[in-house]
Amino acid sequence: MSYEIDTRCIHGEGHKCEDGNNSISYPIYQTASFSHLTPGHNPNGFDYSRESNPTRAYLEETVSSLEHAADTIAFASGMAAIATVFELFQPGDHIIAGEDLYGGVVRLINQICEKNGYDVEFVDTTDVENIKAALRPNTKGIYFESPTNPTMRITDIGAAAGIAHESGAVLIVDNTFMTPYFQNPIKEGADIVVHSGTKYLSGHNDTVCGFLCCATKELSERFRLLSKTTGATLGPFECWLCMRGLKTLAIRMERHKSNAEAVVQYLRERKEVDKIYYAGTGIISFTVDSAETACRILKNIKLITFAESLGGTESLLTYPTVQTHPDVPEKQKERLGITDKLLRLSVGIENPKDIIEDLRQAFEA
Ligand SMILES: *Cc1c(COP(=O)(O)O)cnc(C)c1O
Repeated sequence: MSYEIDTRCIHGEGHKCEDGNNSISYPIYQTASFSHLTPGHNPNGFDYSRESNPTRAYLEETVSSLEHAADTIAFASGMAAIATVFELFQPGDHIIAGEDLYGGVVRLINQICEKNGYDVEFVDTTDVENIKAALRPNTKGIYFESPTNPTMRITDIGAAAGIAHESGAVLIVDNTFMTPYFQNPIKEGADIVVHSGTKYLSGHNDTVCGFLCCATKELSERFRLLSKTTGATLGPFECWLCMRGLKTLAIRMERHKSNAEAVVQYLRERKEVDKIYYAGTGIISFTVDSAETACRILKNIKLITFAESLGGTESLLTYPTVQTHPDVPEKQKERLGITDKLLRLSVGIENPKDIIEDLRQAFEA
């Protein structure tokens, strides 16, 4: 029997560290290489840390447990994980992608995947009929975020998985915003879950990392070949930082959510706020009456920091049109509502009164 998720954040599947010293915190194996006993004989299976490392293996096992994955591979960043996912495809393959994606993924698709001869089609996946209509005989992959960044659009993962599997395509879902605490795409039928572990999983704005969680070993073996060959694997210290962050994922997510709900209540009362996009995590996007108001808030916040990124203990306010989505074509940005009036707030775990008071004084400055 598996433990509940908050227990699995701390203990994974319950494996103790068996290095002979009975340490409670899993050690950082800060080594590039491992000694062999005799040619071809290495009892624990570790040779060289690009390929595998005990600290990384422990982290990967824990993330697999959280996402109900058969196997997980840790990468040096979310983008390294996503770039590796796109290596699944061949020139000429058709890939259906959600039209509202992390800016770096749009850049990857438009500036790199095109060179590789992939035919990537952006579709509004929030209506799964659009996915069905876009299918072609050579559709090999479906890729989306749910909810999306920054406008929190939701796609029915189970329905998308049904469509993907009928047509022989793999379904890839970016679960960075929800985290395994709120959503498990593999349980709903996704083949691969992508994470920017930089965000909630590590959770402290102190490290960059990424994951590919795979529903089958067959998929993860393909990614292991790629990761050990191209080398964007995660270093032992970063693995340990993420592991340490994960231990408090459950209580952090509860606090991020309750804080965000309080901030949403406050924003509803402000006459300068037009639209609020909120999907039940710790992130709120909202539009204000003018670009001047947006810039006034960014300039006057004191506790909240004007910075890119999300999902950490500290509240961060982001200006998506300039910071995270500059490489998304203007037309696409306009259609998605990523304008100079849109702000994205990653609500930290400070006292909610202090977060709201900081917003109030910035609105009224
Ligand atoms: C940040 C982010 C990424 C990219 O991850 P990095 O760790 O910054 O490389 C991908 N997807 C989403 C939804 C993100 O928020």
